[in-house]
Amino acid sequence: MGNKMRAMVLSECAPIESKPLKLMQIDRHEIKNSDEILLKIEACGVCHSQLHGIEGDWQDIGIPPSLPTVPGHEVVGKVVEIGKDVTKFKIGDRAGITPLLSACKKCQYCKEGKEQHCESSEVTGESLKGGYAEFITVSEDFATKIPSTMSSEYAAPLFCAGITAYKAVKAAESNTHRKIGIFGIGGVGHMAVQFARIEGCEVIAVSRNQKHLQIAKKLGAKDTMVFEQDQGKFLEELKNRHGLLDAAIVFAPADIVTDTAIKATKKGGLIVIATVGKNPNFFAFEEKTIRGTLIGSTKEMEEVIKIADKEKLEVISESHPLENANNVLKMLKDSQIDARAVLVP
Ligand SMILES: [Zn+2]
Ligand SMILES: [Zn+2]
Repeated sequence: MGNKMRAMVLSECAPIESKPLKLMQIDRHEIKNSDEILLKIEACGVCHSQLHGIEGDWQDIGIPPSLPTVPGHEVVGKVVEIGKDVTKFKIGDRAGITPLLSACKKCQYCKEGKEQHCESSEVTGESLKGGYAEFITVSEDFATKIPSTMSSEYAAPLFCAGITAYKAVKAAESNTHRKIGIFGIGGVGHMAVQFARIEGCEVIAVSRNQKHLQIAKKLGAKDTMVFEQDQGKFLEELKNRHGLLDAAIVFAPADIVTDTAIKATKKGGLIVIATVGKNPNFFAFEEKTIRGTLIGSTKEMEEVIKIADKEKLEVISESHPLENANNVLKMLKDSQIDARAVLVP
């Protein structure tokens, strides 16, 4: 009773330079329903979309829905307590949580296995239940088991970056679209390069950041291209080197990138947008398909863990203490993180 825990709390959205997260002692989450597990958090990835949420960039689309919050939505921890109806986990197991903390399990979306679209879903890290803390509770249905072969620091980034990358590559219909451009190589993009390679695709990685492009090359991209503000020049270079793309996947949240990705795709091709932006322009007579994606279901999360384990997916990450969350987010903002940072309480 009355247990407390350390957490990095966001009380007001503000630029990360002003250190909006404060280390606080807040009430420890306790199991409230019989299907819940209590996790002692061992690692939480620092996602770029979380940075936008903290800085208030996405308040007009309702993110975060309320304050205060404890950010952090790619969480791995050890099961330290279980509700009486829990069957999937036992004490001592490790489990991970995606940004989808819960859903109603009754609506059409939930019944079809698309629970990420549930209208009454809860998002991890947009209430006091987030990963920048020591403990969290979750229904066992929204937690995924971590195999003993994976460290918690390795596994955490799979729970947002990994599933986002996997789902986007799947959405790009890689079995018929063999030449795929990936726009934005960071935490998510470096995994998408690998998922596309596993599918046998030819990957062209595009980023503003030279270091990110080196990583993409190392992870199997056939070619890398620096993103050019001069769109005409970029498209000319792409055509000369490879011709137009069969499909493009956009992770960089910038409208100019999305616009370029659409123009870099051949007629009849497919563009997958896995980020937030304005409505893209496209010319209907070119018969292109534009498709959005958002994380994935619990079942797809299990697939990601299986593939990562089997294919020895490389997760490029660096660990930092929980208390340094503001600094780590600042480094992310300044493109000083190679791929993913992980906070360890
Ligand atoms: Zn994320
Ligand atoms: Zn639902």
